[in-house]
Amino acid sequence: MKITAAEFITSNTDPAKCPDSSLPEYAFIGRSNVGKSSLINMLTQRKNLAKTSGRPGKTQLINHFLINNSWHLVDLPGYGYARVSKSAKKTFQKFITSYFNQRKQLIAAFVLIDSRHAPQPIDLEFMQWLGENQIPFCIIFTKADKLKPKALQRNIKVYSDIMLETWEEMPQYFVSSSTDGTGREEILEFIYHINQQVGN
Ligand code: GDP
Repeated sequence: MKITAAEFITSNTDPAKCPDSSLPEYAFIGRSNVGKSSLINMLTQRKNLAKTSGRPGKTQLINHFLINNSWHLVDLPGYGYARVSKSAKKTFQKFITSYFNQRKQLIAAFVLIDSRHAPQPIDLEFMQWLGENQIPFCIIFTKADKLKPKALQRNIKVYSDIMLETWEEMPQYFVSSSTDGTGREEILEFIYHINQQVGN
């Protein structure tokens, strides 16, 4: 899919105030610093569409971007940032859960996982929650350029093995690098094909 237009629409903390639109929507979420903003900029080929995190945990907002006038890309706040207070964490959980539960337009979430790290409980628990709430998701293993191919394959295998302890099968996954563009075509093709099916 060629990205011909990408524009910021709105930011908010209230799922009820998200754009009133029937366009298909894809949400990007992951731990702070996982490379989410860089990935969104890489996918859309815009330098600063998503703000890369100078101060992780600060931007606890649901950000909607309109892509090619035909679908929404949603940048959700990073989770698991240690310095955020307990009450901030609760608020975060509340609006993220209501976003996922209320947003009928959501086609799928992309859960970003740093390909360098061992599986973290917070990510596994979050995916478990998505599964229990029947929210379709894919995994994106980010920062692939930081690993040699063998180490990358090994880490993905470790991740799959852990997932398969609770999941019947490994969710669909992508490997990305915002530095060299790895994964861009595959992720955009995935979105494109679903949009075709839903008539956009
Ligand atoms: P966010 O907090 O998830 O939005 O993460 P950012 O996109 O701000 O990235 C966090 C840090 O990781 C920044 O220093 C980025 O330059 C770096 N980074 C993000 N993606 C990649 C990648 O694919 N490769 C490399 N080498 N560094 C990355």
